[in-house]
Amino acid sequence: MRLRIHLAIAALALVTIVWGIRFSVAAQERRRAPEFLQYKYQQLNRTFFANSLPTATVEWAELSDADNNGQTIRKNAQSFVVLVDRSSNPRAEDLQNTIEHQTCHIATWAQDEDPHGLSFQDCMAAIKADEP
Ligand SMILES: [Zn+2]
Repeated sequence: MRLRIHLAIAALALVTIVWGIRFSVAAQERRRAPEFLQYKYQQLNRTFFANSLPTATVEWAELSDADNNGQTIRKNAQSFVVLVDRSSNPRAEDLQNTIEHQTCHIATWAQDEDPHGLSFQDCMAAIKADEP
C-alpha cells in the first residue's frame, strides 16, 4: 500500500515535470514566432503610444554586428521595418527591451542628431516608468 502511494506520488511528480517542460517549450516557440514580434510592437503602440506610431513590419533577422540586438529601417514616411536579432534575444526580457528600444527609434525618428539622443532617452525612460 505504501509502495503504491510512493509510486503514485512519483508518477504525479513526473507528470508535473513533463508538463512544465512542455509548457516552457511552448512558451519559447510562441516567443520565436514571427507573429509574436508583430504583436509586441502593436501592443506597445496601442498601450503606450495610443496607436500614434506608423506601421512597422517586425521580423526576426541574423544581424552580423555582435552588439546589435535590433535595427530599425525607415521604408517611407509612414512605414518602418524593425529587424530583431534572433541570437541576442534569447529571453523574453531581452526581446521586450529590444522591441522597446526599436519602437523608441520609430517614435523619435530624426528628432535629434544622435539617434540615441535626449528624445530617445526620454522615450525609453517613459516606457520603463510606465511598466508595472
Ligand atoms: Zn538604438
